[in-house]
Amino acid sequence: MIKIDKPIYVTQPALPPLEEFTELLKQIWHNKILTNNGPFHKQFEKELADYLGVKYISVFTNGTLALMTALQALHITGEVITTPFSFVATTHSLWWNNIKPVFADIEPNYFNLDPEKVEAAITPQTTAIMPVHVYGNPCNLEAFQKIADTYGLKLIYDAAHAFGVKVNGDSVLNFGDLSILSFHATKVFNTIEGGAIICHDAKTKQRIDYLKNFGFAGETTVIAPGINAKMNEIQAAYGLLQLKYVDANIAKRKTITELYREKLANIPGIKFLNDMEEVDHTYSYFPVFVDAKLYEKTRDELYEELKKHNVFGRRYFYPLISQFPTYRGLLSSKPDNLSVATKVADQVICLPIYPELEKNQQDNIIQLIKSK
Ligand SMILES: *Cc1c(COP(=O)(O)O)cnc(C)c1O
Repeated sequence: MIKIDKPIYVTQPALPPLEEFTELLKQIWHNKILTNNGPFHKQFEKELADYLGVKYISVFTNGTLALMTALQALHITGEVITTPFSFVATTHSLWWNNIKPVFADIEPNYFNLDPEKVEAAITPQTTAIMPVHVYGNPCNLEAFQKIADTYGLKLIYDAAHAFGVKVNGDSVLNFGDLSILSFHATKVFNTIEGGAIICHDAKTKQRIDYLKNFGFAGETTVIAPGINAKMNEIQAAYGLLQLKYVDANIAKRKTITELYREKLANIPGIKFLNDMEEVDHTYSYFPVFVDAKLYEKTRDELYEELKKHNVFGRRYFYPLISQFPTYRGLLSSKPDNLSVATKVADQVICLPIYPELEKNQQDNIIQLIKSK
């Protein structure tokens, strides 16, 4: 009988050493600059761009405001084609911009938006595509760029799961017109709350920087109805510290992933994803997919069983975004249109993964899944 006394959640944030953070706080107390593109904000953007291997980055209060601002930056209107298999913020950012979300189905291998289904969903009102690199696995980048070029659409990637992910040595964030990141406490890299937009030219970066500061382009010039989505100095300083430790944290995530893969292989009805060729992964999630017939237990039964033993997996992403009240009335939300996504949403459960997850804790989780 496995007994787990302390609850194990799907994730636990990695924090930098408190003493080092205190030193930076002293500097902020000395500077008396708390926000508005202060010295830590500037340095954080620079070091983050270097770390990620991108040209231009603008940091934000959170990922959702980054998504909303990205749509404003490119003047997106009308309809945007997106995935129902994501966190709700992806679609909410469209709704808050008065844009109609059009859901297309996902592909069955890595559960990212299916380019063929996207192409079939284009109408005269379509202005952009918003795919998500789900679990940090890159979308079909070439296919999406080709569709965007052919139809004259903008391409905005929700890369909230893809911090540090590289394809053939190049950051996945260098694809599309814009990418957004989230630095929420639950993500691979956190600034408590936070986010960013990645773009590829100085002019776009400038527009984004204006938009996140009410649209101010100078003391008396406001170029657009911007919002307040700036990152403050305390979080920027915290982020700078986090950058020193993120590689070590990703390495620990990799070790945990490898152990799950080794021990969960060959359990009938339990599937998981393997690394993609030519991709450097950062192991943001460890989803498993339950085939109820073969496993002789449904995903929800496994979820409840784990919970009974103090292990709190999460069903990312269930329900589908298209099933929430705001969106379920849309024509594109019909389950028939989203058959792959509908099936996967009923099978998935994300297992605990975070740098400080201990080996014996992980062994217990594995044992619970094996023993049923
Ligand atoms: C976390 C997340 C967001 C939202 O980011 P916040 O920083 O929490 O606002 C958006 N999209 C996806 C796919 C996410 O996982």
